[in-house]
Amino acid sequence: MGEVVDRAAGADRFEVGDRIGIAWLRRTCGSCEFCRRGAENLCPWSKYTGWDADGGFAEYVVVPQDYAYALPTDRSPVELAPLLCAGIIGYRALNRSKLPPGGRLGIYGFGSSAHLTAQLAAAQGAEIFVMTRGEGNQALARELGVAYVGGAQDRPPVALDSAIVFAPAGEIVPFALQALKPGGTVAVAGIYLSDVPSLNYERDLFRERDCAVSPRTPAPTVRSCSGWPLVCPSYPGPRSCRSARSIGLWRILLTAGHRDRWWRT
Ligand SMILES: [Zn+2]
Repeated sequence: MGEVVDRAAGADRFEVGDRIGIAWLRRTCGSCEFCRRGAENLCPWSKYTGWDADGGFAEYVVVPQDYAYALPTDRSPVELAPLLCAGIIGYRALNRSKLPPGGRLGIYGFGSSAHLTAQLAAAQGAEIFVMTRGEGNQALARELGVAYVGGAQDRPPVALDSAIVFAPAGEIVPFALQALKPGGTVAVAGIYLSDVPSLNYERDLFRERDCAVSPRTPAPTVRSCSGWPLVCPSYPGPRSCRSARSIGLWRILLTAGHRDRWWRT
């Protein structure tokens, strides 16, 4: 996140001085079948911040304006920066989990993205059940006031409407499926997941229990997520919180549309 210091010709979405943020998804092609239907996170020609273009830890960064996000000025970078990575991954997974209003949500693994997602879901009225192995993560879950905290493979005390697997451990997926009510959905949020063991159809999937995958987040999700009153506690745990303290503020140069080249260079 940072402050706009200059704009290329045609880049008029933000004013100089505006506070904005950018995320991992730097830009997409804008013309493929996925981009045209609003699923630009699936674009085969997508580009990524810090991977395909400089930025992320730089003092100055050049960004396409269509993939930047307006941010409020009354929050600190420590509170806002996690929204642009861990926050949006979790928010996308929450959407993919199809949690009904006031429903019961299981969260498997309780790291940087999970603890933000738990707060979002709780703010929407969900009852949260956390299954995680780390004592520190279990303690944080209790601190946040979730309904239940158990071990990574423990069965929650009631059947769940939805679950999100944040742990990069495929062996957790059957446990999450078995914890669902009929018609429930498990969302797998990780970019990496170890192999999922064989599933038993009747035990794990029958009665319309679904498994959705959501490791790539479309830009519109970020826009809808950025208005949430998210709290990232300052404790030495999630990587996203530590990163936020080290990032500080970028000086941002905006480009227009999908052009990836700054007009002066
Ligand atoms: Zn595309």
